[in-house]
Amino acid sequence: MNILIITAHPNPQSFNAYILKQVRENIDKSHKLQVLDLYAEGFDPALRFDDKHRRRDLVSDPETAKYRDLVTWADQFIFIFPIWWSGMPAMLKGFIDRVFVAGFAYHNTKTGLKGHLKGKAWIITTHNTPSFITLFSQDYGKVLKNQILKACGISPVTISQITGVEKISAQKRQKDLDKIIQKAKNL
Ligand code: FAD
Repeated sequence: MNILIITAHPNPQSFNAYILKQVRENIDKSHKLQVLDLYAEGFDPALRFDDKHRRRDLVSDPETAKYRDLVTWADQFIFIFPIWWSGMPAMLKGFIDRVFVAGFAYHNTKTGLKGHLKGKAWIITTHNTPSFITLFSQDYGKVLKNQILKACGISPVTISQITGVEKISAQKRQKDLDKIIQKAKNL
């Protein structure tokens, strides 16, 4: 498979960075793997519309062409990010705004979006909220899964979450991470 990991955390010493390290090291070498670390990349997440930047031109924006190529190349996406204010970091949201654009990732129909993308996705998140509460919350990865990835044709999408990440013991954190490592090995 062509696996694209997309990650968004500003601190290369963070637990999310450690998850990235563990996942990339444990993916079978028979797969082709590319990692897009949006902060390390210095990605500009701000979508701008003015005389020179029109919405209809986003599909051929030269600044984001290499990211469209990466998304087209992938048939397995892995997203790794912390939950901030119930959802994905603005950096990742800005990436979606600028790259998953009309004409490339989807087109509009009378009944909703028709997705153009292929492949499946695995979302890995960390946060401090008990998992039973996230079941009833509107986001915690569900917006990315259902309203973005599935709407753009990427399916199935699974979510792994490490809950209470800052409160749990180091042993529990490692145990949760081991499940993610095992899943990475089985891709
Ligand atoms: P870190 O802070 O880097 O580490 C977490 C724990 O793991 C620490 O105990 C650390 O010692 C340990 N650790 C770090 N590196 C390693 C390693 N290499 N090996 C082993 N252990 C390690 N939470 C919610 O539940 N809901 C929200 O809506 C929410 N909103 C937020 C908004 C903002 C702006 C911010 C900053 C945080 C918010 N949070 C929220 C909390 C956030 O989800 C957590 O801070 C984040 O998931 C922790 O991930 P991290 O990678 O930053 O962990």
